[in-house]
Amino acid sequence: MSAVLFGFGLIGYGVLHEREPNPMAADSPGPVDDDPFEQDDLRLRLELLQAQWRRLESLLLAQPDNQHSAAAMTPAVALALQPIGALSNEELQRRLSVLTTALGERLAELKELKRQGVQRLLPVAGIQPTSDFGLRIDPVSGKLAMHNGIDFKAPIGTAILAMEAGKVKSAGLTPQFGWTVELEHANGLTTRYAHALRLLVFKGQQVAEGQKIAEVGSSGKSTGAHLHFEVRYNGVPVNPRRFLALR
Ligand SMILES: [Zn+2]
Repeated sequence: MSAVLFGFGLIGYGVLHEREPNPMAADSPGPVDDDPFEQDDLRLRLELLQAQWRRLESLLLAQPDNQHSAAAMTPAVALALQPIGALSNEELQRRLSVLTTALGERLAELKELKRQGVQRLLPVAGIQPTSDFGLRIDPVSGKLAMHNGIDFKAPIGTAILAMEAGKVKSAGLTPQFGWTVELEHANGLTTRYAHALRLLVFKGQQVAEGQKIAEVGSSGKSTGAHLHFEVRYNGVPVNPRRFLALR
């Protein structure tokens, strides 16, 4: 008897769904007699795929020069990424299937970008950032302030490498940032490398990607040996993580 009711429920749901192609209509709760164990399993699998998607998305966003954008996302994928509310098993299955396909495509996109070798270098090899871009308590003043770059804590004398090829816009000593190099790249991008021990390039010089341009120090207002690294787009500081392949 319940199997018959279940069958009618699905048919009813299917008809409703066809009549209203608006994807948001799929948010309506499904048949109440869906198998609860299957429901739990489907929800867990969908949550896992959503987490994988977020991870892949952040990796893709770390790839420079790519055509990837959130705008390319289809409504079906956007829906599948929504928080999982009260959904029928059928709808959960549908979202799982949409996300599985989309994840496969995104993964292929990432592999292709890596194959093309467009990842930029870290400015200090093998060292992960120790302080992030954004509002933070300034370690020197102790006050809340905008941090326009990211910091890499590294031993004095560690090589500072050009993130990509460019021309030295400035190279010199400033009271706040100490020995600093600024490089000008294509497409309105500039990079800054601050608090150096010493500089190895001069203004106007062309540098290659990965070229050693300075050494890590603690010059200027600094609490210890580290590289303060900034990326600016048309002069405006942007999060350097957007441009770095952290490896
Ligand atoms: Zn900094």
